[in-house]
Amino acid sequence: MDLDKLKTTDTLDVKGKRVIVRADLNVPVKDGKVSDATRLERLVPGLAGLMQRGARVVVISHFGRPKGGPDPQYTLRPVADALSKLLPQPAAFAGDCVGEAAQNAVAALKPGQIAVLENLRFHAGEEKNDAEFAKQLAALGDVFVNDAFSAAHRAHASTDALARLLPAYAGPLLMEEITALRSVLDKPQRPTAAVIGGAKVSTKIPVLTNLAAKVDKLIIGGGMANTFFLAQGVNIGKSLAEPDFTKTALEIMHAAKARSCEIVLPADVVVAPKFEAGAPSKTVPALEVPSDQMILDVGPKAIAHYNDVLSRCKTLLWNGPLGAFEIDPFGEGTFQVARAAAAATKAGTLVSVAGGGDTVAALNAAGVTDQFSYVSTAGGAFLEWLEGRTLPGIAALTRG
Ligand code: AMP
Repeated sequence: MDLDKLKTTDTLDVKGKRVIVRADLNVPVKDGKVSDATRLERLVPGLAGLMQRGARVVVISHFGRPKGGPDPQYTLRPVADALSKLLPQPAAFAGDCVGEAAQNAVAALKPGQIAVLENLRFHAGEEKNDAEFAKQLAALGDVFVNDAFSAAHRAHASTDALARLLPAYAGPLLMEEITALRSVLDKPQRPTAAVIGGAKVSTKIPVLTNLAAKVDKLIIGGGMANTFFLAQGVNIGKSLAEPDFTKTALEIMHAAKARSCEIVLPADVVVAPKFEAGAPSKTVPALEVPSDQMILDVGPKAIAHYNDVLSRCKTLLWNGPLGAFEIDPFGEGTFQVARAAAAATKAGTLVSVAGGGDTVAALNAAGVTDQFSYVSTAGGAFLEWLEGRTLPGIAALTRG
């Protein structure tokens, strides 16, 4: 996959052209109303730009997980309504993404106008990457723009097959995401650090393996640090851990050591007898966890050490919280390290890129999301990129 082959529509003459934009309209909806429009707000400049340049814009997206057929619970109509309010002019809505309803909606578009088509997953062909379904979608446009990085890890009709049928371009949000990820993984400013936390080693083995081969400092926190301790024969009391993955943890440590990547584990930890808000907690050295206690956060010495390591790094990639940040007081490790990284970013000494579901929530809770260089909301696609995998939706845009 040659990322330099990605083309944008910046210099393309889109006037009068039907431009199909694969967006990610999969936003939270409660009682028929969009409850968080952040994703939509980010899409608007790109869509409005195409409209202002005279394109006839056709937006397609999945929404939720319907079972390959129409399901009113998963209609995109409320999302289209919310998007309409943010655009220079309201969007038309078609009750189907292919067939007559879609064809009529697209045919009615004048240059500068926009339509949103119903949920792609109302057709089984979408998730099957079905060529026939993709053909029906392709018939609705002259040009294809993929602006949904978060869906790029799936080879679906709207991310893969469709890109083979029309001239295919990368949208501005997708480019922004790729540029941010390349800045930390491809040719980063060194030294580079990765902070990897979260509950389990097992879900992040490929991420840890790939990063151990790339970064200079691998800072490990959260529940997954426990498995690394266990692997070294350290008593971790009642802490969450995965004994089946101690061998994997050792392999990752050896691979890191072989290329002088330093693995940084917490020197001290915050423990409590149970996983519960307000549980009586105390700080102990990581090597002295009492048998009746569990590790729920990294301690002040670990925080100071992590921050010191980061102060000497120029690039940071962050995925996963350093503790059980959702319950008080076990968010301090995550919050304090996130604030230090945000401050370094603000001071211009660190490029910081973070992502993955819980990470965004953790950075929001720390109040620093805006101060990182880039925060990705693309859960699965972000992780697969960190694993070093080729994302089908991106590869499809680099063919031509
Ligand atoms: P992940 O989805 O793998 O990034 O894991 C995120 C979850 O890990 C969060 O819900 C945290 O509460 C949890 N977590 C982080 N540290 C610990 C810990 N030491 N013990 C138990 N759970 C933890």
